[in-house]
This record gives sequence, C-alpha cells and structure tokens, in this order.
Amino acid sequence: MLSIFVEASCNRYNRDECVDCHVFEPLADISKPDWHMTPDQARLMATKIRQIDTLNALAQQEINLTGGEATQNPHIVEIVKVFQSVSPSVCVHTNLEINSKSSKRWLRLVEIIDEGARADITLYPTAWEKFQKPLLKELIVLQNRMIANLIFENLVHLQQQIQILIGFFDEEAPSFNHVIRLLQKYNEKVSWLVENQPECDETIYTTHMGDTEAFAREENFTLGLSLLPAFKVDTKGRRAMSSIPFPQTPYIINCPAARGSIDIMTVQQTGEMTPCCDVGNLKCQPKFGNLLTDSPNEIMAKFEQSRKKMFTGISKNQENLKNEKLGKWVEEGIPPYCG
Ligand code: SF4
Repeated sequence: MLSIFVEASCNRYNRDECVDCHVFEPLADISKPDWHMTPDQARLMATKIRQIDTLNALAQQEINLTGGEATQNPHIVEIVKVFQSVSPSVCVHTNLEINSKSSKRWLRLVEIIDEGARADITLYPTAWEKFQKPLLKELIVLQNRMIANLIFENLVHLQQQIQILIGFFDEEAPSFNHVIRLLQKYNEKVSWLVENQPECDETIYTTHMGDTEAFAREENFTLGLSLLPAFKVDTKGRRAMSSIPFPQTPYIINCPAARGSIDIMTVQQTGEMTPCCDVGNLKCQPKFGNLLTDSPNEIMAKFEQSRKKMFTGISKNQENLKNEKLGKWVEEGIPPYCG
C-alpha cells in the first residue's frame, strides 16, 4: 500500500475549513502553499509511481490518502481522480469530525465516494455523538465497505469504543448483524482483560486477542477494524519507546525495508518517502528519495543506499536493546524502536 499525505498534519484545525490554523509547531516550518497538496503535485507523483516498479506494485494494492485531515484539502476530489488513474483502489482517511451535511468537507467526501473511492474513519469518542455518529449513518448508506481505526490509551478506552460501535450498528440492524457479531467478539475479549488483567502487558493482550478476524464481510457491507495503541510524542515530535496502554515493554517495529522487502511506503507532503507506516512521528532519517523532486533513477539509488543504512542502524538498535540502552538514537538516524 502507498500512504500519501495530501494535507499538512497538525491535528489542530477549525472544523469545516481552516481559518487561522497551521501556524504553530509542527507546521511553522512548512510554507503556506504547502499546506494542501495541489493536483499538479498529485499528477507528478502519479507519473513517477507509474515509472517505478516497486511503487507501482504498491499502488496496485491500494493508495491511502491521509494527512492531517484529507477532506480539508480543497482539491481532494481532483487529487483522488488523479490517483485513481494509477490505482484500482483509492481510499481517503477522515476523522469525520464535520459540522453538518452542508459542510464543504462532507460534500467533498460524498463526491469522492461517488467517484468510487472509499472513506475510512478514526473513531473519536469525544466527537462521536455530535459529529461522527450522524454522518456515519449517512456514510454506511453511501458506501458498502469501510475500515474503522480505534486508537486506544488503555483497555477501558478500547472497550468504550467497541461498545460505541455495537450500539451504533445495533440501531441499524438487521443488515449489520454480521458486523455486530464481530464487534461482540472483540467486546468479550477486551472486557475479559478489563475485568481480569487490567494492567496486562502487550504480550498478554496480543495473545488473548489471538487471531480474531479483522473483517466482518457480507455483500451489503464490509467493516474492517484496526485497533491501534496510542503513543506519546516528545517535544521534537518523536514517538516514545513504549505505547501508552502497554508501558511495560518497548513497542518494536520490525523494519521490512531493512530486510529488503518494501510492503508499504509513506509519502509525506514534501514528497519524502519512508518505507513503513509512519504517521509523521517516526522521524526516520534515511529517506527513500523524494517523489516530487527526484528522478526515478535517483529514487532507486536512494532505496538501496538507505536500505543499507537501515540494516546497520537496526543491528545497532538490537544491541542497544540487549544492553538496556533503551531510547538511544544511533548515528544512522534509525529510531531506537526499530529492530
Ligand atoms: S527503520 Fe523504522 S522508521 Fe525507518 S523505515 Fe524502518 S521501520 Fe520505518
């Protein structure tokens, strides 16, 4: 999958349209015209994706357009069409924290779905009743598939979010009975942990959750669930070693790129690429080239250079982890939680 930022990532925005946001850290360094990706930039990226086999292969799986908030980009409908020319499956990630059906952001989303793209959401309990719930009712009529991300800070927080979704789909039953069944499985598992192992570590959590399927599939509607632990970030915008719900153990990312396999590529708005799922807080220094400014040959050369650097960096990280030097950044610029 290719994950492409189409909007500056700030998490501080005015609902519906930005007015005076994007002026503080971490966006202070991004010049104003770069807040929104333009259709011309998207076209340039699409051309290069076609020319680079590795990226083209990832685009054939899916292109996920994200941010920041992708629907804030006034050109998002055109950008979606551009990326649809290189990928059979384009989805837009939204927080669905939108004032009303007359909002420009909602109207863009409707147009995007009309064009055959998919909208995925992240659930925010604080925005649920007022913003997300009424529009999710509309969204599940407009499209027949969706992924919901649940970001949790502790097990009770996760349990609450699962129960919010059960309550929601229960009101929409019977067409969503299969979705409710899947959510009930998650609810039972997480509720057991809340009751019996509230302070469990990540190993106990993952073992207990087992191989519970991630999708409830039926022809009328498919829901995918993605449960993601939250992380603190430091003043430099860098992720902590451990997640918030499981502080006992470092949360290690096994870097596929360092081992020669590119399974996912994140393209920042600046065009810089990182070969893993990065929401902007990994701060991996060796870049895999710039999709806006580098030629395909330059990008391929940087793939190889950076892959070697990553391999050396993660070997040092593994040593540091063994020697209890947790959190130490190595000179290769590989985050200390990558192994
Ligand atoms: S070293 Fe870590 S941050 Fe860098 S690409 Fe690999 S997994 Fe991602």
